[in-house]
Amino acid sequence: MKHSYLTKDHEAFRKSLRKFLAKEAEPFFEQWEEDRMIPREFWDKLAAQGYLCPTLPEAYGGLDADWGYAVIINEELERVGSGLVGVGLHNDIVVPYLESFGTEEQKQRWLPKCVSGETITAIAMTEPGTGSDLANIKTTAILEDDHYVLNGSKTFITNGIHSDLVLVACKTDPKAVPAHKGVSLLVVERDTPGFSRGRKLNKVGLHSQDTAELFFEDCRVPKENLLGEEGKGFLYLMDKLQQERLLVAIAAQVAAEDMVEMTMKYIQERKAFGQSISKFQHIQFEMVEMQTQVEIGRTFLDSLVADHIEGEDIVTKVSMAKYWLTDMAKDISQRCLQLHGGYGYMEEYKIARRFRDIPVSAIYAGTNEIMKTIIAKNMGL
Ligand SMILES: Cc1cc2nc3c(=O)[nH]c(=O)nc-3n(C[C@H](O)[C@H](O)[C@H](O)COP(=O)(O)OP(=O)(O)OC[C@H]3O[C@@H](n4cnc5c(N)ncnc54)[C@H](O)[C@@H]3O)c2cc1C
Repeated sequence: MKHSYLTKDHEAFRKSLRKFLAKEAEPFFEQWEEDRMIPREFWDKLAAQGYLCPTLPEAYGGLDADWGYAVIINEELERVGSGLVGVGLHNDIVVPYLESFGTEEQKQRWLPKCVSGETITAIAMTEPGTGSDLANIKTTAILEDDHYVLNGSKTFITNGIHSDLVLVACKTDPKAVPAHKGVSLLVVERDTPGFSRGRKLNKVGLHSQDTAELFFEDCRVPKENLLGEEGKGFLYLMDKLQQERLLVAIAAQVAAEDMVEMTMKYIQERKAFGQSISKFQHIQFEMVEMQTQVEIGRTFLDSLVADHIEGEDIVTKVSMAKYWLTDMAKDISQRCLQLHGGYGYMEEYKIARRFRDIPVSAIYAGTNEIMKTIIAKNMGL
């Protein structure tokens, strides 16, 4: 994969990461999918090699790496399997909130452990009653002396079982008008009394990813665990959700490329009516159309990543990329499965797993319908 924002150093880093994953992840991945969990030791190995939060400043244990390295880590993990998505969520979704909005004291306390793997993070926005309508969350955090008393429940939380530190979106002012002005972010640590975990959820795909319910019952969170200012949580989320959506777009693009590549091999090997099925014009046209889609997707994505690295406002384009690339990958998953015939429906073929894993990318990080409402608004509609 060539990208305009990557240098030879980045590519050398990709090579060693790929080698690491070939040894430490690929041989075990099917087992992790069956176990419905990545072992904690894999996180420790990632940390030992510097693959957790390398973009953090050295002062907090990071490598001060540019975001090109983050792109590579997310791409290479996705090449192994979408079930590794929790690593990108920790590195590039949750930890950036702590880095951007934490006080110096909070950063010193939390960030080095995020790098060393002692602390795995999660973000809890979604509740059983609301996902897209984030301003309408019902979890409350009411200040009593020097603690917030947190009550509510969250669902579909990535890294829900492994997480030691959860960033919880809650209402510190449940009566605020407009409602989003009552939203704050609280950092809840593993052993806080009143914090418990529910089921590891049984999902259609992303089997090795530990997605869970979380419960907060009169959970007393020290007031110094408030992230940023009270009432600003919604603004922080709107800011950081852009990078989250970019990560989902990156993963969808890699998944699409992987599916086209594996299908190219399959159609050349598979014979029917005395010839390789790649000789049938219909199959060639399918491949041509899919290759065109991934080329267009890659070009758009690369320019968007470069814009993001430059610090430009990517809200509209990342919403476009998130919906278009995930829809593209869904479409490609169906077409590639069809071209594998009956084998495509068998679990031992990777296309079957890709087919199960990809639909969620159109749902999480803001559904594709929500992406279109953002684009429409920014088009002045
Ligand atoms: C595997 C997985 C991992 C997840 N990880 C996390 C996580 O780590 N943290 C977290 O907080 N959440 C997480 N989520 C939750 C995810 O972000 C939500 O499921 C998603 O935002 C949609 O919310 P919802 O499920 O409540 O659907 P709803 O909001 O109820 O939406 C249902 C349908 O209505 C549509 N819809 C809603 N509003 C509109 C509108 N205004 N216009 C048009 N259509 C609309 C939606 O697009 C969707 O098709 C995860 C979900 C899954 C499945």
